[in-house]
Amino acid sequence: MTGDHAYTELAAAPVCGLTPYEPGKPPEELEREYGVSNALKLASNENPFGVPDSVRTAMSEAIDNVRLYPDGAGFALSRALSEHLGVDPAWLTLGNGSNDILVLLAECFLTPETSAVYDQYSFIIYRLAVQATGAEARVAASNPPEHAQPFGHDLNAMLALVDATTRLVFIANPNNPTGTWVDGEALHDFLYQLPDHVLAVVDEAYYEYAVGEDYPGTLAWRDQFPNLVILRTFSKAYGLAGLRVGYSISNPGIAELLNRVRQPFNVNSVGQAAAVQALAEQDWVAQCHATNLLCMETLRAGLAELGMACLPSRANFLLAHIGTRAAACNEYLLRQGIIVRPVANYGLPEYLRITVGAEQDVTRLLAVLREFTEQGA
Ligand SMILES: *Cc1c(COP(=O)(O)O)cnc(C)c1O
Repeated sequence: MTGDHAYTELAAAPVCGLTPYEPGKPPEELEREYGVSNALKLASNENPFGVPDSVRTAMSEAIDNVRLYPDGAGFALSRALSEHLGVDPAWLTLGNGSNDILVLLAECFLTPETSAVYDQYSFIIYRLAVQATGAEARVAASNPPEHAQPFGHDLNAMLALVDATTRLVFIANPNNPTGTWVDGEALHDFLYQLPDHVLAVVDEAYYEYAVGEDYPGTLAWRDQFPNLVILRTFSKAYGLAGLRVGYSISNPGIAELLNRVRQPFNVNSVGQAAAVQALAEQDWVAQCHATNLLCMETLRAGLAELGMACLPSRANFLLAHIGTRAAACNEYLLRQGIIVRPVANYGLPEYLRITVGAEQDVTRLLAVLREFTEQGA
């Protein structure tokens, strides 16, 4: 055997069809490649305000013990989550980010004989997790552009793809990369109609930004729908993306299965300590949410002035319609040290996904975008 390609013949069949996830470019990479300094990353929906001091302190204290394996059961974090959510710890599963739990769910429930359903423009990790198992991926068409939630999930279209082989349905609420959401009534209706043999994976990665008004309170539905799996994360509003901590809330029967396949030490000790302390900082999270709302409106209005209309969003990012020059616009931003997220890989080549930064980030971004439009670059 010669050449790297020879190994694809040896790989498990489902792996041959995979395309690796393209993460947002790290600022250091941009600085290396483009020779810029002061790079600004608005590409992965991270919290621009970082973490409060108390979380830093908890992390420093945890560093003293990194020679030891973490608590594999995540006792302190499970207890803190249990108190915060009002949920028995038996319903909780901790993950190396919620991404980990998405993969565990696929491992537990999918085989080449089964199928899973997700939306056309939903989070790409669903596709990867499903394809890796060899299960059939059934992709539901999204809402049309003229819908109140353009490119959002069409729950009826998703339901129509469910049959006896289906084990998982993924619903991102709000969805990434669109920012669109499904309201409580629609989601409740959907869950009511979903057969018992299908798990509804409701991914609430942006929960802290989305909560309120018509946003569904899924936690209160867990007894009514034992096949409901709710995913949340510390990567977004809690500002801990680099530590990789997420969790699910599910029926203990499902949690017990996830526990069988998860790595015994999947959540690191510094992450566990930081997450426990972060949960105690609800005022700070609320403050980040309030600021995000204000900055999002400034960003939305600024983009609209430049002819770049955005989809509705209940998250901490906007999906902006740039048009046929979206790729050129992205390149222009990179040269000016700003990283946003092209979404051509999602099938949305005319759009850019932009994380709502702090006020000064929004100002800097809008100034560069104005230059781009004026230069016709
Ligand atoms: C960011 C994001 C996640 C979270 O990923 P982690 O692995 O918890 O960092 C999950 N789902 C969606 C839709 C996201 O945008």
